[in-house]
Amino acid sequence: MTDTQDVVIIGGGLVGLSIACHLAEKGVTRIVVLEREAMWGRGSSARSAGGVRLEFSHPSSVQFSQYGLEMFRRFEDLFGISASFNPCGYLFLTRDPQRWDRMQQLAAMQQMLGVPVELLSPADLARRYAYIEMPDLVGATFCAQDGIADPASVAYGWARRARELGVKIRLSELVTDITQTRGHVSGVVTASGSVIQAAVVVNAAGPQARAVGALAGIDLPVDPYRRSVYVTTAFDGLPPQIPMTLEFENTSYIRREGSAILMGMSDRLEPISENTDTDQESLEKLVDTVLRWVPRLETASIMRGWAGLYEVSPDDTAIIGEAQALPGFFYAVGFSGHGFMHSPAAGRVVAELIAGEAPFVDISPFALERFRYQTTGEAFVI
Ligand SMILES: Cc1cc2nc3c(=O)[nH]c(=O)nc-3n(C[C@H](O)[C@H](O)[C@H](O)COP(=O)(O)OP(=O)(O)OC[C@H]3O[C@@H](n4cnc5c(N)ncnc54)[C@H](O)[C@@H]3O)c2cc1C
Repeated sequence: MTDTQDVVIIGGGLVGLSIACHLAEKGVTRIVVLEREAMWGRGSSARSAGGVRLEFSHPSSVQFSQYGLEMFRRFEDLFGISASFNPCGYLFLTRDPQRWDRMQQLAAMQQMLGVPVELLSPADLARRYAYIEMPDLVGATFCAQDGIADPASVAYGWARRARELGVKIRLSELVTDITQTRGHVSGVVTASGSVIQAAVVVNAAGPQARAVGALAGIDLPVDPYRRSVYVTTAFDGLPPQIPMTLEFENTSYIRREGSAILMGMSDRLEPISENTDTDQESLEKLVDTVLRWVPRLETASIMRGWAGLYEVSPDDTAIIGEAQALPGFFYAVGFSGHGFMHSPAAGRVVAELIAGEAPFVDISPFALERFRYQTTGEAFVI
């Protein structure tokens, strides 16, 4: 079966669906999203903790989040389904004086971009969040505009709009090859035997971005790491509304999930793998870590948990652009655990690039070519 499209998007997760939607809204008609699973949004997108925050190290990342936050707030007006945005705020805690210096410098940049980030002393924290017991805390930042939203509703809203605008979403289609003609991308081949010709192919394959890049001969430095999340039964030992709270040094976080508590961790000892199993070891490590700073959770019971993959780049920042070595091959990958909040802006800038327009945000911090030089890692990531 041979088919001809204007744009092929590989990956039906949040990033691929956002690109499809933004492109279709620009009037591009022949777009196909190819997803290897039998449902869209089943990869990392289904495992997200739903956090949306404005604190980042690069101004462009801050602007990406501002665009995403605004879209999630207005999602129901725009797409007819609520993203359930809850402005519970984000609270970052650190015990490290050097990190605290950097957070304060970055707060000045963030404030210049309109982010209402507050700097909190240990005394402020004790007064506002008495349930956090961290005697060696050095400082904290809080942003009241941040919050949490529902990734599944966002994926559904974009998929529905994209289809209304004529985008085809083909499920159970594993892309096995990317073809080239005279140095330009020319289409893809799938495991079911489909050959789709297109002058534009987009890699939005999340944790599988490196493998999909290799099909085009483009090395995209993105590796998958397991990240686990657990949810308690209803728990009234903490206030009903608490911020999404992250502590950097042991890389754990908590937030409310309805009347329960959701907790997660980015265990730095996890090897590169596509393992998405939960296990006793990861659960015990997470619980031990969280109890050290929220001892009141001692009486909570774990009800369920899941694991998914972070798609991590060397500096914890996305890689977005068109391959210099293969015109027509675009990528939006390596979101490093913040791809939900950045998926709206990623969709917009990739659509702008494909349409030959200037991106609405400076995307040079996301260039693949930056890895030829020394890069500064993202500070606000665990
Ligand atoms: C536990 C956890 C918590 C997280 N919490 C947050 C958070 O609080 N806030 C936030 O912003 N982000 C969070 N993230 C990160 C966020 O979920 C991801 O960054 C985002 O979902 C990436 O979306 P994606 O579309 O790039 O990837 P995916 O959703 O993985 O989509 C890629 C798709 O490509 C498909 N695919 C791969 N290879 C092929 C192929 N060859 N052919 C066809 N299809 C293919 C896959 O099946 C998959 O569906 C979290 C992630 C995890 C795991």
